[in-house]
Amino acid sequence: MSNTKVAVVTGAARGIGAATARRLAADGNAVAVVDLDESSCAATVSAIEDAGGRALAVGADVGDGAQVETAIARVAEELGAPVILINNAGIIRDNLIFKMTEADWDAVMAVHLRGAFLMTKACQAFMTKEKFGRIVNLSSSSAQGNRGQANYSAAKAGLQGFTKTLAIELGKFGVTANAVAPGFIQTEMTAATAERMGISMADFIAHSAAQIPVARVGQPDDIAATISFLCSEEAGYVSGQVIYVAGGPLD
Ligand code: NAD
Repeated sequence: MSNTKVAVVTGAARGIGAATARRLAADGNAVAVVDLDESSCAATVSAIEDAGGRALAVGADVGDGAQVETAIARVAEELGAPVILINNAGIIRDNLIFKMTEADWDAVMAVHLRGAFLMTKACQAFMTKEKFGRIVNLSSSSAQGNRGQANYSAAKAGLQGFTKTLAIELGKFGVTANAVAPGFIQTEMTAATAERMGISMADFIAHSAAQIPVARVGQPDDIAATISFLCSEEAGYVSGQVIYVAGGPLD
């Protein structure tokens, strides 16, 4: 095990966030498992503890400044200074532009963009003080445009610009910032997309896999492994990058 650091993973109750929290704990970090309801974090925390790791369940809405402040203060007190931050919490409110409501737009911006901003602002204070930090923001292949996702694609493209600016501003403090942009990953989020499209998840997976060069859809652990590398000490010269993890080339 490497020397223990404290990681915060948002949206870690399930899906990519849960896999990432488990992986960062296996890498030797103490992990704050953040999601909307503290109780929903229990399964991820148990999995980490059962594997011999250290985890803390924290309930917070990442889009709410006061809740983020309280959550990060609690992490610092109970686990230590958070120097690894994974901005993973996300929602979809898909609709074609002519049917997309202001509420659909605002909800997506509040979680992905405002949430990443608030969490980063709270954690960077610890990272700059410790002269070490790793920030990974979850972008998406949808940043390149995706039917029915005007709000989500704008937020995920926005996170790429946010990431590059963090890399420029925080580099001199030993802090790197990178974005991981997954393609199709099999989670409850993609199951919801299948439902919106009126097809079964099995058909959605088969149809998608047929168009992916490695001939399969991705799993949460595929993303967790990439994030694990970006959070390692040896990744200190990789910053401001957008890494597509999509089973084939995207740029
Ligand atoms: P998921 O829906 O399975 O999990 C998302 C988690 O975020 C949930 O536990 C949810 O409760 C939590 N969350 C939502 N709003 C929150 C808030 N305001 N505060 C705190 N937590 C909140 O999604 P997933 O598929 O695991 O996706 C994780 C991330 O990866 C998201 O940012 C998503 O946009 C991105 N992503 C996913 C895919 C994919 O194919 N699944 C592809 C590209 C990008």
